[in-house]
This record gives sequence, structure tokens and C-alpha cells, in this order.
Amino acid sequence: MDMISIRDIRKVYHIGTEKVVALGRISLSVAQGEICCILGTSGSGKSTLLNVMAGLERPSRGSVIIGGTDVTKYSEKQWALFRQKNIGFIFQSYNLLPTMTAVENVALPLAFRGVAKELRTGKAVKMLRAVRLGDRLLHRPTQMSGGQQQRVGIARAFVARPKLIFADEPTGNLDSKTGQEVMDLMVAMARKYGETLIIVTHDPEIAKYAERIITIHDGCKVSDESNPAAAGKK
Ligand code: ADP
Ligand code: ADP
Repeated sequence: MDMISIRDIRKVYHIGTEKVVALGRISLSVAQGEICCILGTSGSGKSTLLNVMAGLERPSRGSVIIGGTDVTKYSEKQWALFRQKNIGFIFQSYNLLPTMTAVENVALPLAFRGVAKELRTGKAVKMLRAVRLGDRLLHRPTQMSGGQQQRVGIARAFVARPKLIFADEPTGNLDSKTGQEVMDLMVAMARKYGETLIIVTHDPEIAKYAERIITIHDGCKVSDESNPAAAGKK
């Protein structure tokens, strides 16, 4: 089953009288449980594509279908609710709340989804243990390394078991060794929980961790290939 499918997506920005075509006419589908990477150089349209797929920006044309529902027609408010319930995000700069502990940060999506208060801490702790941070539960972001903060970010993205997880340059602020560890962990977690994971990166070394690599250039898809080396690690 397709978890997300985009059809003929076009995105044009108007700057004064100038037109910038950020996305040409892109179509793609990602199956449930697939771990997929969108690879492209700076300015190729990766962020725009991710933002359109996650409903953070509206396409100029085309449709986005998630779990069989055409979400393109959603209002801002409907999209915001849908995101809260169905989509997890992993960010380049982690986006953890600085005044909150690791457990509180991870528990946040559960609160948004209406999980009872007495259940949240237990679920957050379990997820922090899954990312090997069982000994950092009460640490705040400034008391953790970049790699540890990103592992908190991963735990937060997975805790509410969303339909889809988007990771935007998840290793962009990490050294290469830590970046590789974070990729290994993120991919292992997606397999363990059967999550659909879409990673956006400019780095071919990072893309290698995905089972499927979609390359874009100048707002168009130039290749879409399965990557048996990563798939074989299952
Ligand atoms: P990437 O993430 O691959 O670096 P982007 O999706 O950010 O690429 O950008 C793709 C193209 O769209 C670029 O030419 C960029 O300048 C343009 N673009 C992106 N966002 C905007 C915007 N808000 N207004 C105008 N042009 C934009
Ligand atoms: P990065 O760490 O990659 O710089 P950003 O902070 O720029 O990430 O966020 C990437 C995109 O995600 C932005 O368009 C931003 O508006 C959006 N975003 C940030 N936080 C959330 C959130 N909690 N839920 C949904 N979208 C978010």
C-alpha cells in the first residue's frame, strides 16, 4: 500500500515579476514501511518537496495523497491537526525545547495526540531507552551532545507511532562518525517499528542508508533507484 503518493506536483514562487520553478512536475509514491531518501544538491528543490509532502507549503499544482486521503484540499487548520496525528519530524537542528528534559521533549507529541498523562512518561522513557538514552532521561538539551540531542529528536518522532516520518538533513550538524551512528539508529528504529521514513539530504554517503534513493535536480526527478546494499541489511 502507498503511504504517500504525490502526483504532478509543481511549485512556482513569484518574486516580483520573476518566476522561480522550485518543482517541475514531480510524481512519486512511497510504500508503507519503506525507507526512502530524497537526494539533491543545494537549490534542487528538496526542502520545497518535503514541505509540500508534509503540508507545510501548498503546491501550485498537483495532489498529495496520504494513506488514501487527498490532503491537498485541507485548510491550514485541518493540515495542522493531521500533522499532529499522523506525521513525525526530525530536524537538522533538533528543535528540542530547551527548558524541557529529554523525557518531557519526547512526551510532547503524546500530549498533542491526547494520550493520558499517566501513560506519557512511561512511553517516553521506553522510547528513550530504545535510542540508548536510558541514562539521560532528565537531561536538558544543553546538557547533551549533538548526537544525543538528535537521538532525543528520533525518540520524539517515533513515540506516537505516526504514519510517516520526515527527516530533513538529520545529520547536517553532526560530524561524520556521529552522523553515521544516527543514520544507523534511525533506520534500525524505522525497521523495528515498521515506520515509513523519508529522509532529505544533499549527502550521497547519508543517502546510502536508505533502501531507495530518489535524486532530484532543478526541481525534477532524475532517478529513482532501489539500493540493495541498504535493503540487504534488514
Ligand atoms: P534545496 O532544499 O534543495 O536546497 P529549495 O527547495 O530550498 O532547495 O529551493 C529550490 C528552489 O526554489 C531554489 O531556486 C530556491 O531559491 C527557490 N525557493 C525556495 N523557497 C523559496 C521561497 N520561499 N521564495 C522564492 N524562492 C524560493
Ligand atoms: P532545520 O533544523 O532543518 O533547520 P527548521 O527549523 O528550518 O529545520 O524546520 C523545517 C521546517 O519544518 C520549517 O518549514 C518549519 O516551519 C517546520 N516546522 C518546524 N517545527 C515544526 C513542528 N513542530 N511541526 C511541524 N512543522 C514544523
